[in-house]
Amino acid sequence: MDHKISVTVQIDMDGKNIRIITAGCLTRFSQSALLPLIRRARKLTPGIHVTVDATPTRHVDAAGLELLRDAVDNEVSLGNGPPVQFVVPAHLPRHHATVDIGASSTYTSLVAAPHKEGAS
Ligand SMILES: [Zn+2]
Repeated sequence: MDHKISVTVQIDMDGKNIRIITAGCLTRFSQSALLPLIRRARKLTPGIHVTVDATPTRHVDAAGLELLRDAVDNEVSLGNGPPVQFVVPAHLPRHHATVDIGASSTYTSLVAAPHKEGAS
């Protein structure tokens, strides 16, 4: 499987809020690319509020998320920078559960059910 992560960074005009938005796959491998970004974001301006928003992420690996949070927590506890707020989906999405597959299988069962009843 190809687990690619893409990241969008939004910074408020006043430089007080920075939002790191992840899409694609957040796994134990791809999360390592986020840490340098988070590190830089926390140092951007004093008192900056850093949010990591994984809501649009198609696939969130629980172990990967745990690794990232541990690494960030560790940096927060060591340094004098601000904490990082994580926004993650309530149910971590898995890679194979894509919208396309879900939609087509639902459609098939909806079509198949009336056909079976009509035949019997
Ligand atoms: Zn994936």
